[in-house]
Amino acid sequence: MDFELTYSQEQEEFRKEVRAWLDANIPREFEDQVPVDQGDGTEAQFLWAREFERKLGAKGWFAPTAPKQYGGGGLSMGHAIVLAEELSKHQLPSTGNVAIRYLSHALLAWGTEEQKRSFLPPVLRGDWAIWQLFTEPEAGSDLASLKSRAVEDGDDYVINGNKIFVGEQFYADYLYTLAVTDPAAPRHQNMGAFLIPAQTPGITMYHMDLISGSGKRTVFFEDVRVPKDYLIGGKTQGWWVANTTLEVEHGGGGRVAPRNNVLDHTMAYAGATTRNGQRLLDDPLAQQALAQAHIGVQVGRLLGLRNFWMRHTGRRGTYEGSQSSLQGKRFSPELARTTLDLLGPWTLISNPDLAPAKGELENHQRQSLSTHPGGTPEIHMVIMSRRMGLSRTPTEQQGSRDLSREEH
Ligand SMILES: Cc1cc2nc3c(=O)[nH]c(=O)nc-3n(C[C@H](O)[C@H](O)[C@H](O)COP(=O)(O)OP(=O)(O)OC[C@H]3O[C@@H](n4cnc5c(N)ncnc54)[C@H](O)[C@@H]3O)c2cc1C
Repeated sequence: MDFELTYSQEQEEFRKEVRAWLDANIPREFEDQVPVDQGDGTEAQFLWAREFERKLGAKGWFAPTAPKQYGGGGLSMGHAIVLAEELSKHQLPSTGNVAIRYLSHALLAWGTEEQKRSFLPPVLRGDWAIWQLFTEPEAGSDLASLKSRAVEDGDDYVINGNKIFVGEQFYADYLYTLAVTDPAAPRHQNMGAFLIPAQTPGITMYHMDLISGSGKRTVFFEDVRVPKDYLIGGKTQGWWVANTTLEVEHGGGGRVAPRNNVLDHTMAYAGATTRNGQRLLDDPLAQQALAQAHIGVQVGRLLGLRNFWMRHTGRRGTYEGSQSSLQGKRFSPELARTTLDLLGPWTLISNPDLAPAKGELENHQRQSLSTHPGGTPEIHMVIMSRRMGLSRTPTEQQGSRDLSREEH
């Protein structure tokens, strides 16, 4: 059976338009300077990338399938796939902006009409960079144990608490977070979801240097005053709002990821390297390892694509998001092992002037250790087993991205 996508004539025309626009708007010299480890990126590169997000937004390409009436592109799933494929061919700095990936889903599902009209256009057009601040020192996998508090005071909430492993290296315009609004209520029914302007007094941030590169932050909220208009969903519906975005983050949103740079570079190295008079690529053991890695990449690509299709066609999944995440989290260390076996110590060199692929393989060795973002492998196994009815705890439903607010 052939699983490959085919494209209509019109989509191929669109591809040409996208390709030409990207070539005209991403200078080759700029791309060459983007470091393989996003943690080494400069502020100038970040600012360039933010401006690029706004340019995409102005064309409706930042949130291509989001409703036009709120500032999205209103394009079809096919067009979004073409866009994602063409964008993935470029080396762009990360902005850490989760506006489209996560927050827009929460606003569409839970925002009041007023909030949709005022928040969605800047979110969908790339004008606002958003960070997601959920994890706390005592609440990671068990997010429902979070301790940050939001207390009503007139027209505001006053927030106190501490978040960890959140944000990115440079800046955000808004922070999307959770805090307990009713400490007397049971778990899952005691918190609200808030959008907080990042410059609000009382917010302090510290950098965290992680082995996996891109800088994360510890954030403290001390008497941070947030207008009630910035509460998304009801006062105690934060858990369900968070689930809407977590469902997407856990893999339910799908991903269009046609290439794997690490495998491409490893193949190139094996093709160009001779050992004991034989090209590494002609060694049957190397061939076996590379074929296995190729299969892993293709399985991940197809699972991501399936979930992307399910989301855009309104199909309700159960375990599929976590299945895709789990596959990626298991495959990445396997691929790291393969490159280490084939290239040996060359895989561990980060100096871009000496290392193969400017240090991208060394970067991947470190990144592959980081299986925590978006839930650990164990948590994805827990989610899958619950949703497949295999767990001791009662079967749960898929998260609430597509559910109406009345269902909770
Ligand atoms: C690079 C990076 C980026 C991140 N980005 C963000 C971000 O932008 N925003 C954000 O809010 N958070 C972010 N996080 C935090 C991330 O979501 C948490 O690290 C993750 O949810 C795990 O929580 P924890 O670190 O507290 O580990 P814990 O929850 O303490 O888990 C420790 C270990 O126990 C295991 N475990 C826990 N519960 C169970 C269980 N029920 N069954 C079996 N095993 C279990 C886990 O699998 C893990 O191995 C990021 C983390 C990293 C490392």
